[in-house]
Amino acid sequence: MQLSIIQYPHPTLRVRSKPIRRVDKQLRMLVEQMLELMYAAEGVGLAANQVNLPIRLFVANAAGNREEGEELVIINPEIQFPKGNETAQEGCLSLPGIYGNVKRPKSIKLSAYDLDGNSIDCEVDGFLARVIQHENDHLNGVLFFDRMSDESRRDLDDRIAEMETVYRSKQATGGIEADPQLIAELDQWYNLYC
Ligand code: ZN
Repeated sequence: MQLSIIQYPHPTLRVRSKPIRRVDKQLRMLVEQMLELMYAAEGVGLAANQVNLPIRLFVANAAGNREEGEELVIINPEIQFPKGNETAQEGCLSLPGIYGNVKRPKSIKLSAYDLDGNSIDCEVDGFLARVIQHENDHLNGVLFFDRMSDESRRDLDDRIAEMETVYRSKQATGGIEADPQLIAELDQWYNLYC
């Protein structure tokens, strides 16, 4: 199973991912591939549905480098107690080259599990809090531009529309499967892990 990062507007990016009930050797290998893809793309986070896996899992490393920072594998996250507000620029590996300002809570409490079933409970702030909120949004089918002000979003409208046109024309010529088929194929993952 070779994963790759899917691009907007692939329908799996809009799926609300399902909780993970079991972890097996294959899932550990998929997580390792997600980390490799994230570092190769010079990203700081990657959600499972960005590699077409509709399950509640993401990887992150705020340092963006395997040799530095803390590598996180986060399963079934819950975010609580948002505090403060901060606006900063975000991008997304599923919308390469598109950046915009997003206002988010400055600090949050993250509750989740790791791959071994250990619980994670921590207060997070700063850049890592932003990364975790961005990735957690993916698991709910939310993209960063959904959270932008109408005014900032308008600056990106043309480029987002262009991505949609390119994607739909690939679907029309058979280069990418139609949305209903792509969504139907997700059942295999629910059967395995949810
Ligand atoms: Zn993203």
